[in-house]
Amino acid sequence: MDDAELKMQFLYALRSRGVTNAAVLTAMERVDRAPFIKGYFAERAYEDMPLPIACGQTISQPSVVGLMTQALEVTARDTVLEVGTGSGYQAAILSQLARRVYTVDRHRRLVREAREVFEALGLTNVTAFTADGSFGLPDQAPFDRILVTAAAEDPPGPLLAQLKVGGIMVLPVGQSDAVQHLIRVRRTEDGLDYDELRPVRFVPLVEGVARDA
Ligand code: SAH
Repeated sequence: MDDAELKMQFLYALRSRGVTNAAVLTAMERVDRAPFIKGYFAERAYEDMPLPIACGQTISQPSVVGLMTQALEVTARDTVLEVGTGSGYQAAILSQLARRVYTVDRHRRLVREAREVFEALGLTNVTAFTADGSFGLPDQAPFDRILVTAAAEDPPGPLLAQLKVGGIMVLPVGQSDAVQHLIRVRRTEDGLDYDELRPVRFVPLVEGVARDA
């Protein structure tokens, strides 16, 4: 199968799994997933599968990336925080839709490699930091949108505090070895509204910056 056919099949898989938002599909058509996957698995970039990346982490399944992005209702004026840079793929998709994207990971190596891919692809509105994302990014806060791509038992308090009124946060909650649910939180004038979107499976949100390189 040639590249064009693989890409057609990729977009078809996204649509059939519920990614229907035209802007999200366009972003996913534009940003090639292969550069975010190093080595052997790069040739499987167009499959709708999570794949292993460095530091024992995973790049999410594309349809899950699409569904999460869609649930976040990103607009072109938004400043977005992503917690869990991983490969940088999700941040790159967000960079097509938002004004500004900040992404943080606890693994220095993942942040370094994601920065290299952003630069190679000419994505200038996305900045990656090494930090414990449970505390958000106080210097860049508040955010219009927050996306967490690692599972916490509860939405971290500092992230809720860094969400603007009218803002939306999407995150998986639940224990790492049990069923997790994708949750959407909206901050209104009066407080927080929660809705549960679908069952998911993510690596856990881990405390602290990793000690490896
Ligand atoms: N969004 C990524 C996939 C994320 S995998 C992509 O598109 O490829 C989850 C990531 O969350 C891992 O890279 C892991 O290192 C990171 N992570 C886990 N706990 C964290 C924390 N407390 N702060 C920042 N990153 C964290």
